[in-house]
Amino acid sequence: METIHTLEWMRQVARQCRADGRVVGLVPTMGALHAGHLSLVRAAQQQCHLVIVSIFVNPRQFGPGEDFSKYPRPMDADRERLAELGVEYLFAPTAAEMYPENFRTSVHVEGLSERLEGRSRPGHFRGVATVVLKLLEIIQPHFAYFGRKDAQQTRILRQMAADLNLDAGIVVCPIVREPDGLAMSSRNAYLSPGERRAATVLHHALSAAAREIAAGERDVMRLVAVLRKVMDAEPLASTDYAEIVDAETLEPVLRLRRACLLLLAVFVGATRLIDNLLVEERDDSFFVTL
Ligand code: AMP
Repeated sequence: METIHTLEWMRQVARQCRADGRVVGLVPTMGALHAGHLSLVRAAQQQCHLVIVSIFVNPRQFGPGEDFSKYPRPMDADRERLAELGVEYLFAPTAAEMYPENFRTSVHVEGLSERLEGRSRPGHFRGVATVVLKLLEIIQPHFAYFGRKDAQQTRILRQMAADLNLDAGIVVCPIVREPDGLAMSSRNAYLSPGERRAATVLHHALSAAAREIAAGERDVMRLVAVLRKVMDAEPLASTDYAEIVDAETLEPVLRLRRACLLLLAVFVGATRLIDNLLVEERDDSFFVTL
């Protein structure tokens, strides 16, 4: 595997691969790779001839007081895992090259970015959309792979790709979980053993709501009450938000319909974790995907 640090060399390599007729897939990450990231790499490898993984801890998507400086950066271990999987190129640009001093442009996806994660983390999605557009421009992949773990992010990126007529297909992959249900996240490494046990509360809350939905519950207030009851029973967790929204508009709904997302953001100790459940209506029945 070759590690590429400069934008110009990355651009040239990707251009050559496309000229050779190879289907190029990009998996953008911030590193500290876990099985969730690796599942995106495998999905990309199934669809593409060549997979490029980017690792860039993007300063612009962290707010003041967030964990940018302490975010884990185990570059050697990450490189090893990607090489083992047969990834051909790792793109690890520098912040100085991504954001030179006179950098002035940003992408804001209106109406989808202000709520939920956007309300708790102002500017977060502007940072995400901007860096993803830059990566898509530098590499110009045929497909780019993202996890449904960050459901609002994938919705925003699909909107950006449509609005800006981007050529890359945005592929959304399932959430990978630990055996006890906790969604894999680089931030799980911050949890103490007690917090790690408490963190399963997100999955328990979503599972409880899923059971109610399977039993026929469609009323959003009652489903949110189920989520809150489970969350409130965990003393180490404090809920930032527990909401049920339309999966397309991300607007609150009163009753389940079409496709909805049950979204949770929770502090476990000082660590902020998110998780979600997708509910889809098909032939008058509702199907849940955790
Ligand atoms: P990050 O390194 O946190 O920016 O994540 C990079 C990509 O991996 C994003 O598209 C995430 O949605 C995805 N991802 C993170 N955790 C998981 C997971 N547990 N399952 C599936 N995808 C994930």
